Amino acid sequence: MDNFQLLIDLHKSANRQGPGGEPETIKALDLALVDRSAPLKVADIGCGTGASTLLLAQLLNKVHITAVDFLPEFLEVLEDKAKSLGVFERITTLACSMDDLPFTNEEFNVLWSEGAIYNMGFEKGVRDWNRFLKPGGVLVVSEITWITDTRPEEIQDYWSAEYPEIDVASAKFRILEKHGYSPIGYFVLPEYCWLENYYRLLQNRYEAFLNQHGHSEQARAIVDAEKQEIEMYEKCKAYYSYGVYIARKLNKQNLK
Ligand code: SAH
Repeated sequence: MDNFQLLIDLHKSANRQGPGGEPETIKALDLALVDRSAPLKVADIGCGTGASTLLLAQLLNKVHITAVDFLPEFLEVLEDKAKSLGVFERITTLACSMDDLPFTNEEFNVLWSEGAIYNMGFEKGVRDWNRFLKPGGVLVVSEITWITDTRPEEIQDYWSAEYPEIDVASAKFRILEKHGYSPIGYFVLPEYCWLENYYRLLQNRYEAFLNQHGHSEQARAIVDAEKQEIEMYEKCKAYYSYGVYIARKLNKQNLK
């Protein structure tokens, strides 16, 4: 069976497919200083089943959100939820890879991406997506980040293998500055965003998932990888989290 199908089966019924939380999405929106009643065009890239998309659609009065994910199964769930929340008209889904977006230059006021940019890499993402933002528009992106200057070798080795771009926040700010943004806000996701909002709920689904797939070797390998990731988090959470970066696209005309 296709590995993607297994990942879809494990994650589709969840509220979110990565660490995060509603108060944190609201905090990021506040830091982005967007006018909530203005007509805004937003893209939520790597939206999963829509945890942030649906909240933003409820909070922003005149928004249109393009919700992008490369898994159509997640987008179908998002659409059903949008209908029951009465915000379906504010959202268009787009099944597409984040490294091949069909957007036009300066199309969006806000680019949003929670727990997803690592799939194409932070630097490539912020560099390639920049042109889709209007000058003065805002990028809100969460990225796995070292939250201390040094760390045990075990966790350094684990994340260097999983995601070599993991780094401290100052290095991420530097990348944002290098690619035409000015950072205007930053905070770190608290522990409950990982444990209560994501990992505990994921752990509760292991059994049903393994049964659904007859405890196949492939399904067990997926659960084992999740278990290892959670074990690492529980042991080493003092050293890393998701950093939430809020950055304004510079208006080059103002820089003469
Ligand atoms: N933002 C959501 C989902 C985070 S999980 C939340 O916070 O709950 C990361 C998401 O990125 C998944 O839904 C996955 O399907 C999607 N994804 C992974 N690689 C992608 C790619 N290359 N292009 C678009 N989406 C991708």
